[in-house]
Amino acid sequence: MTPIQQQSGPELNLTEYPPEVVAFQQRVRDFAQSEVLPRAIELDAAPHDHFAWHLVQKGHQLGLTRALLPPELGGLGVGVVGVCVAMEELAAACPGVALIFGATMLGQTPVLLSGEPGLQSRFLDMFMAEEAALACNAVCEEAAGSDLVIPESFEHAQVVTTLRRDGDDYVLNGHKRVITNAAVAAFATAFANIEGSHGASGLTCVVVPLDTPGVTRGPVADKMGYRACLGAELAFDDVRVPAENLVGGEGDGADLLVAQGNMARSSVAAVSRAWRGTRWSARSRSAASVSRAVRCSRTTR
Ligand SMILES: Cc1cc2nc3c(=O)[nH]c(=O)nc-3n(C[C@H](O)[C@H](O)[C@H](O)COP(=O)(O)OP(=O)(O)OC[C@H]3O[C@@H](n4cnc5c(N)ncnc54)[C@H](O)[C@@H]3O)c2cc1C
Repeated sequence: MTPIQQQSGPELNLTEYPPEVVAFQQRVRDFAQSEVLPRAIELDAAPHDHFAWHLVQKGHQLGLTRALLPPELGGLGVGVVGVCVAMEELAAACPGVALIFGATMLGQTPVLLSGEPGLQSRFLDMFMAEEAALACNAVCEEAAGSDLVIPESFEHAQVVTTLRRDGDDYVLNGHKRVITNAAVAAFATAFANIEGSHGASGLTCVVVPLDTPGVTRGPVADKMGYRACLGAELAFDDVRVPAENLVGGEGDGADLLVAQGNMARSSVAAVSRAWRGTRWSARSRSAASVSRAVRCSRTTR
């Protein structure tokens, strides 16, 4: 079993950002204000399964898909603070676009924390390529949301996705929902319970390339907000995952979720900070609210 590793970034200093974070923040702000904000209303009003790959590609060129990764793995190495300021800048223009990159970071985190060079090379090198790639993190299910995120609630979890060892593989069965990027990601870091464990006490993470036989993506949820990012279902039907795609060891899922929360979920707080009106422009907020209200009135007529 490989111990899950904590990663370090630039020292946490919330009053004065390191120069590399300030420079990254400015680049992301320029991108958000010039490329994302003018399209925010259009993205919010688009069909629920529309996805703006061209914007993702531009964000990828800026380094948004490798911001969380350390320089030794080819990343920007701006740390959690750098990721948070980037997410806040993006969310000030469009929270849905911010979440596309945030969900990718969530998907990358278990691979990063695994400390496994083989796993990291197979699933993180793709973010250094010319063409944009995205990841997703699959935890939530129809009957289990918080029950799979809060370790104290694990005993209450029911009908959880399962993982069973079979020779050199694990066999994955179950159904995830509202998984951001599931429709467009190259891989998912999927959390499943070792078959036979009580509740979710055997929660374990595996990396699943989403072109693996037995994986079905969709449908995409028709959301009221965050419409620029696609939240979709992911069904796993006897999906064979090589044992080398295990992150850490069997039952390490709870520790992973906590470590992942410390690293990547702080960016969700940064998104909400922008949402709460401190940054999101009144212009885009009022217009997006109008477009949402119109859409809701259409669907409830
Ligand atoms: C925009 C968006 C994107 C998302 N993207 C992803 C993603 O990429 N991957 C993913 O896995 N999931 C994703 N989710 C789902 C998210 O993880 C779940 O919504 C979350 O885990 C909560 O689960 P739930 O919605 O089933 O709510 P529930 O777990 O049913 O909770 C409902 C309410 O009950 C409260 N509650 C629950 N348990 C307790 C308890 N024991 N004690 C006290 N109060 C409790 C909660 O705080 C909440 O207020 C996304 C959700 C949204 C809205």
